[in-house]
Amino acid sequence: TKWVYSFGAGTADGSADMKNLLGGKGANLAEMSSLGLPVPAGFTITTEVCTAYYDNDRRYPDELSGQLDEALAKIEAQVGVKFGDAKDPLLVSVRSGARASMPGMMDTVLNLGLNDETVRGLATASGDERFAYDSYRRFIQMFGDVVLEVDHHHFEEILELHKEDRGYSMDTDLNAEDWRKVIEGFKAKIVEETGEPFPQNPKDQLWAAVSAVFGSWMNQRAITYRRLHAIPASWGTAVNVQAMVFGNMGDDCATGVAFTRDPSTGENIFYGEYLVNAQGEDVVAGIRTPQHLTIQGKVANGSDLPAMEEVMPEVFGQLNDVRLRLEKHYRDIQDVEFTVQRGTLYMLQTRAGKRTAPAALKIAVDFVNEGLITKEEAISRVDPASLDQLLHPTLDPDAPRHVLTRGLPASPGAASGKIVFSADAAEKQAAAGDTVILCRIETSPDDIHGMHAAKGILTTRGGMTSHAAVVARGMGRACVAGAGELRIDYKTGVLRTRTDELREGDLITIDGGSGEVMKGEVPTLQPELSGDFGILMGWADSIRQMEVRANADTPTDCRTARDFGAEGVGLCRTEHMFFEGERIVAVREMIMADNERERRAALAKILPMQRQDFIEIFEIMDGLPVTIRLLDPPLHEFLPHGEAELAEFAEASNMPLDIVRSRAGKLNENNPMLGHRGCRLGISYPEIYEMQVRAIFEAAAHVSKELDKSVEPEVMIPLIAVKREIEILKELVDRVAQEVMDAEKTEIKYLVGTMIELPRAALRASEIAEEAEFFSFGTNDLTQTTYGLSRDDAGSFLGTYEHRGIIEQDPFISLDDEGVGELVSIATERGQAQRPDIKLGICGEHGGDPSSIHFCQKVGLDYVSCSPYRVPIARLAAAQAAL
Ligand code: PEP
Ligand code: MG
Repeated sequence: TKWVYSFGAGTADGSADMKNLLGGKGANLAEMSSLGLPVPAGFTITTEVCTAYYDNDRRYPDELSGQLDEALAKIEAQVGVKFGDAKDPLLVSVRSGARASMPGMMDTVLNLGLNDETVRGLATASGDERFAYDSYRRFIQMFGDVVLEVDHHHFEEILELHKEDRGYSMDTDLNAEDWRKVIEGFKAKIVEETGEPFPQNPKDQLWAAVSAVFGSWMNQRAITYRRLHAIPASWGTAVNVQAMVFGNMGDDCATGVAFTRDPSTGENIFYGEYLVNAQGEDVVAGIRTPQHLTIQGKVANGSDLPAMEEVMPEVFGQLNDVRLRLEKHYRDIQDVEFTVQRGTLYMLQTRAGKRTAPAALKIAVDFVNEGLITKEEAISRVDPASLDQLLHPTLDPDAPRHVLTRGLPASPGAASGKIVFSADAAEKQAAAGDTVILCRIETSPDDIHGMHAAKGILTTRGGMTSHAAVVARGMGRACVAGAGELRIDYKTGVLRTRTDELREGDLITIDGGSGEVMKGEVPTLQPELSGDFGILMGWADSIRQMEVRANADTPTDCRTARDFGAEGVGLCRTEHMFFEGERIVAVREMIMADNERERRAALAKILPMQRQDFIEIFEIMDGLPVTIRLLDPPLHEFLPHGEAELAEFAEASNMPLDIVRSRAGKLNENNPMLGHRGCRLGISYPEIYEMQVRAIFEAAAHVSKELDKSVEPEVMIPLIAVKREIEILKELVDRVAQEVMDAEKTEIKYLVGTMIELPRAALRASEIAEEAEFFSFGTNDLTQTTYGLSRDDAGSFLGTYEHRGIIEQDPFISLDDEGVGELVSIATERGQAQRPDIKLGICGEHGGDPSSIHFCQKVGLDYVSCSPYRVPIARLAAAQAAL
């Protein structure tokens, strides 16, 4: 087996596509070397060695030692000096390099090969004694820290004491003699801490460093990092050994890092920093102020230190050439490390540059325009979830923040405002010009007006599909849900954390993208949509196969949805309309009615209001399908709660208080999610659904006749479990629709379909499809009922489940492909077999989640429907799913 891959002098055994074997760093060093770029000679010990090492009780494969010697000899031949040579020693760096960059592992040892003897050789060969001893002490310090595990503060302390002794303030004040003293101190410390002298044999040093890299693969920090990022332990790490080049041999030397384009804006300008006369880690350490590469960068950042372009114009020119070649070759922006040794440029690393969301967008579009990548590649390179950052305000990253706690990142965007504890207070204070954050234990449809008035919503209970989360996403309000460490006391008006106590009116900031809750006001940055956004979305639209609709309950939602490119409404939850303005009294009369006659009287008051809602929605959605769901929620949600509300209602409706109280008591349910909701309401009280259907069709007739717009209503029946339910209710819809059409003397094309949100419905999809003309997967309830996991309560313990690896992800966020997904597949197959042209969509929250959208493409759904603000994400994700 080949365990060691060499590179250097314009050739390499490996290449960029061998990341799995050589790790990211090793593969790209090989690639740059093959390209003829100036890469110091070196070799990579493969990730397979790491795996073999752990499989064999931390023993190396027999052939490794021979292969390593050969590779080392190749470096010696190329550089022209020998490892361990007392007169002119070859020095090497040893670095780890996994497939994915992995903090927590042993990183770097520089200057390896120095000892008490070779350091003198280095002094002579370089003609710089101070440089030689400085290099030696750096080596002992790094090796002592990461290989011998002697805590680094010991070394820092020795150095500081020496400086104090001599009255020095900076490291540059130390001369060769000083460094010799410091080195003696370091070596003594190592004997004291480890019981062994600092290893003098360069070969022993090399093997110890290699073993330290492999050993660090299994240290606790690395294990934790892998668990959090789902990186398998079996991947292993590679080790890179490379001839040292020095950026600290004088003023014609430098070291730096650069991005081929600006990684925060994506602008096509060379962006980077360097330090004259410094070694790699000095740049990162932040002790000296780095200088800019370009004059442009210097000016833009108001730096008065000269740019590399001015100081070393020739080397800068070479570096700029490397930049252009790397971008052309990798067809992506690169993040590089380089060193200049006595006027000669060396490249030490290249990798795809991390970038902000706006930069990713700009770079993707620019690269297509520059002919470097295709539109398909551009689409695949932008993370759909990152679009959230472009559509919502974000926290100013430079602003200080005092984090109180963390909840679920339920709806993106950052918002600051005064704490209010009730929807009414939110409405009142917002009307008075305050910005407020509505803080509730949980929210219910009663709170909609307050949620609307608030800038953001914070709840202490509930998961990602809790009422607060779903409604906030729909409205585009920031929301942190289920912040379980917080205690809200409505009576006293306090919000308590472990350490703080906040009152109504105190300022608070929430970040719905991260789930953080912060004390006080943290400044936010407003998003700006660039032209590139529209261009990329246009490409996505031309590639995707699934339609993207929006879950929109109000005319405002519908307008937002259209602005974001929705191609219809996939779910209009009519119950949300019941809470608008003064309607709640009539709605309560309807629920509390003792008989059908009373109920119909109440419904007659609601009908014109519903009709007006639908008129506006149809008008806005002109020409696009609108799926309207008949009333779904548990009736008790509409009930007056508490004595005050009961009394208020009794007064408004002219009913005796004790009757109101007893009827409200009867309607109360222990488990409302599984109670009298969905089509069960329509079966019990057909007059409710009749009113809604009448409102829909009268509105449709009005909009098509009077406003000359085209309407496509799709009437959707929720929570079907049994075929007979939809049979009865479809008959109801058809009958009322016909009545309206006859009365209005018009024809309206419409569909009647159902949600598939109960396991029984998925399994009996074939017979349900005899009636239903479309299925819309209500994966919120389908997840709830498949797992037997309450949407509103799961948030409190799912975190533990994720942490312990029992589940990979919250199934209310990302569809559980295996379980819930199987029910979706079954229902799709059975529905299509029964009715080949059945329309299939999804309207659970998963309709806006990229990985769930991939699943929807795979099972062959016609559309996904999600909250308006997620429509762009869904458009991009659907395009990626179609690639
Ligand atoms: C669902 O259950 O997935 C759904 C869309 O309906 P709701 O969230 O209103 O229950
Ligand atoms: Mg549902």
